[in-house]
Amino acid sequence: MKPDMNQLHGPAKRAAAALSEWIWPSRSIVSGERGGGVGAVAPSDWAALVFIDEPLCNLCGRPQDIDLGEQTVCPACTARPPRWKRARAALVYDDASRRPVLDLKRAGRRDGLTAMGGWMARAGRPLLAEADLLVPVPLHYRRLVTRGHNQSGWLAAAVSRASGVPARMDILRRIRSTPSQAGLAARARRRNVEGAFDVRRSRTKLVDGQRIVLVDDVLTTGATLTACTRALTKAGAASVDVLVLARVVRAEDVTI
Ligand SMILES: [Zn+2]
Repeated sequence: MKPDMNQLHGPAKRAAAALSEWIWPSRSIVSGERGGGVGAVAPSDWAALVFIDEPLCNLCGRPQDIDLGEQTVCPACTARPPRWKRARAALVYDDASRRPVLDLKRAGRRDGLTAMGGWMARAGRPLLAEADLLVPVPLHYRRLVTRGHNQSGWLAAAVSRASGVPARMDILRRIRSTPSQAGLAARARRRNVEGAFDVRRSRTKLVDGQRIVLVDDVLTTGATLTACTRALTKAGAASVDVLVLARVVRAEDVTI
């Protein structure tokens, strides 16, 4: 465990930072290369990460070729509009963003959170400008116990710090422990998480009439986020938007 540098000042802080860097060398959250500071993204990594910018589908956040402003809607959303109002992702989920996503989720690596929160706040600016509350996708308590952390809760807290929109971790609950979505096709994913979430009865008044931004690490097929959107809408949310760190764009990346 690294010492808490915030408790130190001046030369003591610099000495502790140097010692810490020697014992626990900081590594890029993207490539794992040494150096550059805590939570660093090495200069060469910036070129590898694909940040999603306009034009994008206003409903699912998928990058598009033609910009029609808020009217930009991709063919998939035209055929089957999502349950949520709008979705935004900071990054394309690909070979470069896989490592920071999986390190956060599986290894509980937290030193990239400030950067990630900033990226997500930027990507979700129009959503956050109208939001009342950030709500992370919850883990089932059994998985929370074995993993020890909920990466979506960490991301919601990071976005909250970057945007000033409050986050509540205790709104949604996973009432059914579901097998991992990894490796399942879209229809199986939908069936897997159907009815798996609800809003805690004691928290319904915090949701009623509120504009919610749901936060998750990766948008894959959207099955989990759809199930959460349903639960929030049922509890009276005025609107539900979705904000994720990364979204799958290529079908072959639907393996996470
Ligand atoms: Zn779309």
